[in-house]
Amino acid sequence: FFLSFEGTDGSGKTSVLRKIVQKLAENGNKDNFILTREPGGNRIAEAIRDVILNVDFTEMDAKTEALLYAASRRQHLVETILPALKANKLVLCDRFVDSSLVYQGKGRNIGMQKIDKLNQFVTDGIEPDLTIFFDVNPKIGLERIATSRTDEVNRLDQENMKFYEDIHQAYLSLVAANKHRIVRIDASQSLTKVTDDVIAVLEQRIPH
Ligand code: C5P
Ligand code: MG
Repeated sequence: FFLSFEGTDGSGKTSVLRKIVQKLAENGNKDNFILTREPGGNRIAEAIRDVILNVDFTEMDAKTEALLYAASRRQHLVETILPALKANKLVLCDRFVDSSLVYQGKGRNIGMQKIDKLNQFVTDGIEPDLTIFFDVNPKIGLERIATSRTDEVNRLDQENMKFYEDIHQAYLSLVAANKHRIVRIDASQSLTKVTDDVIAVLEQRIPH
């Protein structure tokens, strides 16, 4: 079962994922799941992540960025995700195709349809079975980051608030267009409450 987690920066998906993984391990599922992330997830894909995230934002062309994310995703899918799915494991993925649709398609103005085509090319049409969208006002998300991850603030400051508002809107449009696949969670709540809400959805939707 392929599960992806999406949301704007500071929406709390990584923190909640950590808690969920902890619970899974406590319940004796240590060998039945993998936790992975995009961009990255394995050696080659993480190396591509470093290229994307460690350069001056303003220097990188939007399509170059989109292609690097796509390249990272391809390696991640083939080397990490597909083998895990084949072994019947639960795959928990921090970001997947929807991030590219909203960040590069909408945020960087390439167009969501063009990114959708690129996504199709790299995934051969493979989609998450279920996607959890962490919905929070992007302003709150950035404030959370400002108080907890000072190293990320500089990079995020390079993009303006409009960029994150656009991305948030684009996520909401994806939720509306993919009701069967994407479940929206109110991520403005406490970390504990958000975690409980996510677990309730997973218990309902993951076959067991
Ligand atoms: O998931 P995480 O927050 O660690 O992602 C790292 C950064 O990469 C984020 O700040 C996000 O803005 C950016 N990103 C992006 N386009 C994607 C995926 C992530 O700009 N397709
Ligand atoms: Mg982040």
